[in-house]
Amino acid sequence: MNPSDNYRALDALQFDNRFTAELPADSEQSNNIRQVRNACYSRVQPVGFSNPELVAFSREMAAELDLSSESCLTLRFTEVFSGNRLLPEMDPYATCYGGHQFGQWAGQLGDGRAINLGEVINRHGKRWALQLKGAGPTPYSRMADGLAVLRSSLREFLCSEAMHHLGVPTTRALSLMLTGETVTRDMFYDGRPKAEPGAVVCRTAPSFTRFGNFQILTAQGDTDLLRRFTEYTLRTDFNEQRELTPKVITEWFTDVCRRTAIMICHWMRVGFVHGVMNTDNMSILGLTIDYGPYGWLEDYDPGWTPNTTDASGRRYCYGRQPEIGLWNLVQLANSLLPMVEQVEPLQQALEVYSETFVAHRQQTMAAKLGLKHYDAATDDTLTTDLHQTLKLAETDMTVFYRRLGAMDITSDSFKESTNDELLNPLMDAFYQPEQLSGDTLQQFADWLKSYRHRMMQDGSPYKERRQRMDAVNPKYVLRNYLAQMAIDKVEQGDNSLLEELMDTLRHPYDEQPDKEQFAAKRPEWARHRAGCSMLSCSS
Ligand code: AMP
Ligand code: MG
Repeated sequence: MNPSDNYRALDALQFDNRFTAELPADSEQSNNIRQVRNACYSRVQPVGFSNPELVAFSREMAAELDLSSESCLTLRFTEVFSGNRLLPEMDPYATCYGGHQFGQWAGQLGDGRAINLGEVINRHGKRWALQLKGAGPTPYSRMADGLAVLRSSLREFLCSEAMHHLGVPTTRALSLMLTGETVTRDMFYDGRPKAEPGAVVCRTAPSFTRFGNFQILTAQGDTDLLRRFTEYTLRTDFNEQRELTPKVITEWFTDVCRRTAIMICHWMRVGFVHGVMNTDNMSILGLTIDYGPYGWLEDYDPGWTPNTTDASGRRYCYGRQPEIGLWNLVQLANSLLPMVEQVEPLQQALEVYSETFVAHRQQTMAAKLGLKHYDAATDDTLTTDLHQTLKLAETDMTVFYRRLGAMDITSDSFKESTNDELLNPLMDAFYQPEQLSGDTLQQFADWLKSYRHRMMQDGSPYKERRQRMDAVNPKYVLRNYLAQMAIDKVEQGDNSLLEELMDTLRHPYDEQPDKEQFAAKRPEWARHRAGCSMLSCSS
């Protein structure tokens, strides 16, 4: 390809803007804050920035859009995905949604700083909505500015792609741009606002529809539009061609319940904590959406939440995610009630959520432990005991499972081992190795002995067991401190660590001997450093 082909590559994108073509728009055109009625979206233009600059792009996401890596390095790409220039077929808009925030109905929220550019159909016929986050205010910006800072944008960009490579359902990210302008934020909510570099991420997903897009229409009492929006969603996002009947809606809702259960099961597997599971942050497609103050479980503590706003209630802590998923689905069910008219079928769908979660969790736990099959008779106790034991000492969940996989647990060498010898291969997982003494040491050793016993029964040879485990227990996750180090570097104009992390996180289950430093447990200096453990919502 010659340089001008790269320049023109964006013109080859095939737009099919169904959302705006088929759903009603807000009749008001101005970009002032307002309550929007009888509409699913408002048209709005990105503000444009003085000096946008590409920080990074995802070559995998570019390829999904049939864009070459070279075309992502053109000035035009930077202009388009910072919001400075629209392609002729783009039709930018912000959607209207509501939501329950921290358990309370919050009314209209909407895309306050997300501007959808349009939908692209790739060469395989797959639909991708393109959305800029931080490209300026919309009618839904409420008290805020519609902008985003580099730190939160980099975290979203990097984590979306890392989650994709981990096999977790997620929205994706195409690009990360610096805007060349500053954005003022009071990061610690302590009355000391600071100017920070502004940024824009281009996010992508088959659709960005949230539970809250349905909830707002029901709250407004607009059953006609609720029906129309549901019909649109089923047809476009779920390839459902049948006429909208209570039965079809219930079947679809059951599918949403299943998807949500599977997504949360993946979160639990890899130690991801979303941090803000409000119903406006729940994707109808069961994708992880809205990466804000999320975090990765380091020390296995089910009560850990990465969100400082959540620190007192811990509503969104790791261990409560499955339960909150259900709570959110109940809210979605309530918003579908005007169309289904009966509670019972929706109730049954909610039971499917729990059943799906339990079934997948069992399969996942079997794989995490290297078992051929999950046998509730033995393995309910084995997994419950493990989770109790992990809490006794400060244990890095990711390192623990990986090290466990590497132990040839059924070998004769472990038969006569002392407790210390038994634990030795796992010691890297402990933040405070001195905790491994007395009763705690005994309980870890007891668990390992029952695990050994169970594996002997299972009979899988070492290699097979390890492969099974390494395929589901990631070696590399986006540890909170790693993201923060990449942010610090990019703020100093050095993108090399960001790129190195992107590379490493492309193959999270592979051993990468030259990247061992990214697999180690969090260093002590990061324990209480801002951005390395808990985060505020400021972004
Ligand atoms: P969140 O729970 O962080 O995803 O956001 C809750 C709501 O606040 C959504 O409607 C966002 O669009 C909106 N929001 C968050 N930050 C901003 C901002 N800087 N400008 C405008 N709206 C925002
Ligand atoms: Mg949100």
